[in-house]
This record gives sequence, structure tokens and C-alpha cells, in this order.
Amino acid sequence: MKKLQNYINGKFQPPVSDEYIENIDPSRGVPFSLIPDSGIEDVAQATEAAKAAFPVWSGMSLNERSEILMKLSKGIEDRMDEFVAAESLDNGKPVSLARQVDIPRAVSNLSFFATAVLHFASESHYMEGVGINYTTRKPIGVVGCISPWNLPLYLFTWKIAPALASGNCVVAKPSEITPYTAYLLSEVAVEVGLPAGVLNIIHGLGSKAGDAIVRHPDIKAVSFTGGTATGAYIAKTAGPMFKKLSLELGGKNPNVIFADCDFEDMLATTVRSSFANQGQICLCGSRIFIERSIYDQFKNAFVEKVSRMKVGNPSDIETRQGAVVSKDHMEKVLSYIKLAQEEGGTILAGGHQVKLDEPYDNGFYIAPTIIEGLSYDCRTNQEEIFGPVVTLCPFDSEQEVLKMANATQYGLAATVWTSNLKRAHRVANQIHSGIVWVNSWLVRDLRTPFGGVKASGVGREGGWEALKFFTEPKNIFIKE
Ligand code: NDP
Repeated sequence: MKKLQNYINGKFQPPVSDEYIENIDPSRGVPFSLIPDSGIEDVAQATEAAKAAFPVWSGMSLNERSEILMKLSKGIEDRMDEFVAAESLDNGKPVSLARQVDIPRAVSNLSFFATAVLHFASESHYMEGVGINYTTRKPIGVVGCISPWNLPLYLFTWKIAPALASGNCVVAKPSEITPYTAYLLSEVAVEVGLPAGVLNIIHGLGSKAGDAIVRHPDIKAVSFTGGTATGAYIAKTAGPMFKKLSLELGGKNPNVIFADCDFEDMLATTVRSSFANQGQICLCGSRIFIERSIYDQFKNAFVEKVSRMKVGNPSDIETRQGAVVSKDHMEKVLSYIKLAQEEGGTILAGGHQVKLDEPYDNGFYIAPTIIEGLSYDCRTNQEEIFGPVVTLCPFDSEQEVLKMANATQYGLAATVWTSNLKRAHRVANQIHSGIVWVNSWLVRDLRTPFGGVKASGVGREGGWEALKFFTEPKNIFIKE
């Protein structure tokens, strides 16, 4: 079985503990590789390497850093098939999705920030007759990046690219559940000659290796994407150390569908926004609110389309729903389906595990599930399930739907479907979330601010927001 290694100071090395964790293929439910069970000592070594590399890396010209990041981007692109297969194997997502979304996006995250940094600028504030303030933005030093399992390389590079582009050295940890493509990235880093210590990739458990990153006194900023409970723990730990924190957390996103929408466009997009990546995208809409006059029309058409989605092994190009990421996660999602029934919900589609033929008979498959008949404030409609489960709920007025849409602790993303422009603006403005898509979903411009409000996070990623996060501003005043 392949043994992944940590990437520290430009070299591959085993964990200090010499202990490994099994990495499971969710499509078959069997281990296929081993990953380092790293801890405090590994993070300490990585941080020392990053500190030593910082003066050289931050001292390079923008063009030099940009060129190296472009090579990293190209290095992934050149090994596209291998990255695509690894992402699907690790995560259970359809190969077609990894090829269309995950890996191309990792390529563009790196090339985007490699060039964005060339255009980054800082502010100046002139005071007439008094003098001028100008702001410098210098890299912070050593920063930590911790990412989740749902979009493994996509979110890993979304953090390390702006961190590196702005001159920081990085200690990063992918999810222990999906480490493979981050490991392949470390191979690319060696191939393209990324200077030693600039990027260090530590594998292992969140509670051990991740926690060691959060606690290390020389890691001055932490960019984290993951669950809200983990985010709260990180904030509690890193807050008293005055670390800069960016927290991208959970969601329970509403889709608000008005009767005057373009029905076919809305329907096709709502199938995707509900079940893409088995519903394991933080931006998936899991609570679908439909204006009552089209409720039955929507329900029948949606159930019909979703029931035809093929649940299958991820490498089959016909597959629309692959495996969910782990046995634990599958059991969590199934327990929420049970809870929904206990709360009075009616299952309109799915609602159960799917058993495939050998060799996929031990894989973690769930039929895409649609539930109706629940109140907007029950647990099923309040807690993040993060799987292929959505609820339907009718509404009669804008006021009512806004109340229901805004009634969770989360506030990451929302969709609004209407052809009434004034209403689109009005509703989008009143939804409590960091992102609203009107008549679309998951259209991403990497320059825009990305992140949530309330328990969905603190801070924003993307474009200049990310470059601002990974730099420390200093204002200098000069008297006229
Ligand atoms: P977790 O919070 O469990 O883990 C996220 C990362 O943090 C993993 O690398 C994990 O390691 C690590 N980690 C876990 N515990 C600690 C700790 N105590 N200290 C430091 N690091 C730790 O989230 P999931 O991986 O389960 O991801 C799913 C969640 O991510 C969902 O809630 C989803 O909404 C959210 N998410 C948010 C996004 C956003 O942009 N707002 C985007 C994508 C997902 P390990 O896995 O090895 O335990």
C-alpha cells in the first residue's frame, strides 16, 4: 500500500512518530494508502523550515514569485489525469466532477493569485496641507492553512496560493480523509523547484497535527475552512495568541424560488445546487423554499429528475452521485434522514443507503433525498447535514420566506429565482448571507469576496481580500 510522506523543507519525510493512518477509498470502503500520523514535532520542524525560508522568499521580486507559482499551476495541469483520478479515489466524487471542477479550479487558483499579486496595491490618504499617509502591506511571515475534505485540492490551493503569492511561507494541512492530491502537489513543488521550506505539507489528524499548527507561537495567521464547531475551537485557541484568523465555516443555505422564475433553468440548476458532489459543497442549497402557486409543479418535476440521477461508482461516466466521503459521514447523513421522519417529514425521493455490486458493495452511497412537510425551525432545517439531502417548503409572501430563510445560525450563500428585477435586488439585500446568486448558482469570479456571516465564518477570501488577509498593513505618515 502506498505510504504518503510529509513534505518539509523541500524533502519528503516520514512522521516523527513513524505511525500511519489508513486512508479509505469511499467507493469501495477499503484502505488504499497510508498517511503520516503527524504531531507537534513534525509541525515544529515544518515551522522552523518555513521561518528559515521566509527572508529569501519574501525578498524575491513579485515577478520571480509569480513565475514559480505559475509553474506550480502548470505542473498540476500537466498531470491532470493523475490528479483527477486521485481526487475521485480519495473523496468518492465522480471522476467527471473532479475533471470539470476540482482540478481545473486548483490550476486556476494558483495562476490567478500568481498574477493577482502583480496588480495588488495599497492605499494612500492625502491630507491637504498636512501630509500624506501611505500604507505598506508586507507578508506576515509563517502562516497556517487548514482545509477540509469536500473539495480537497480546490480549497487547499485557494489558501496556499494567496499566502505564497504575497510572500509568506506556509505550513499546511489537508484533511486526513482526503490527503492524496495535496501529496501530489508536494511532488509538483519538488519538480518545479519551489525553494525548500516555502511550502510545507503536514499530514495527519486535525486534533493533533491541525491543533499543533493552530497553537504554534511562530505561526502568526491561520486560514481555516471546515466545520463551525472546529472553527469555534480554533478561535478560542488562537484568539488569546492574537493570531490573524480567517474562518470559512458551515452553512444551511436557502434557495428561494418565486413563481415568475425561468422554470426550466431554475429546475436544472436546483438539481445541481442540491446534489453536486453528493451535496457536500458548503454552497449547496439544502433548504428549498418555493412559492405556493408552483409548489406542486416544482415538486413533481424535481422528484422526477432527481429520481433519475444515477448513483454509481465514481469512475463510471454515467454516474451523477458518487460515494459520500466516509462511513462516519454516511451514518451521520442517514441519521438526519431518520430524524427528519421523526420530525414529521415525508420522504419524496431517496431516503436510504444504496448498495452497489461488487467491488463497490462496501462503498458509502446514499440515494439523493428530498423531504417535505417539515417546519422551517425543526432540527433538520436548522443543522448542517452536508450530504445529498434537501427539504422543500412552500411560502406565500416575500416577508414569510425571508423570515424562514434567515432563521438559522448560518449565513453563507443563497439563491434567489425570479424574473422581477426589483424583487431580486430587494430579496438579495435582505438575505443574511455573504453570497447571493440570482437566477444562477456557483458562478465564481475569483476576484470577488467569498465568505459567510453569523456562524458561517469570519473574514473573506478571494481576490484582494485574500491578499489583504495574508499581509500586514502599516500606515506611514509624512508631514508636508
Ligand atoms: P472539520 O472542521 O472537521 O475539518 C476541517 C479541517 O480542520 C480538516 O483538515 C481537519 O483535519 C482539521 N481539524 C479538525 N479539528 C481540528 C483542530 N482541533 N484544530 C485544527 N484543525 C482541525 O470539517 P470537515 O473536514 O468535516 O469539512 C466539512 C465542513 O467544512 C462543513 O461544515 C462545511 O460546511 C465546511 N466547509 C465550509 C466552506 C466555506 O467556504 N465556508 C467550504 C467547504 C467546507 P482532519 O480532517 O484530518 O480531522
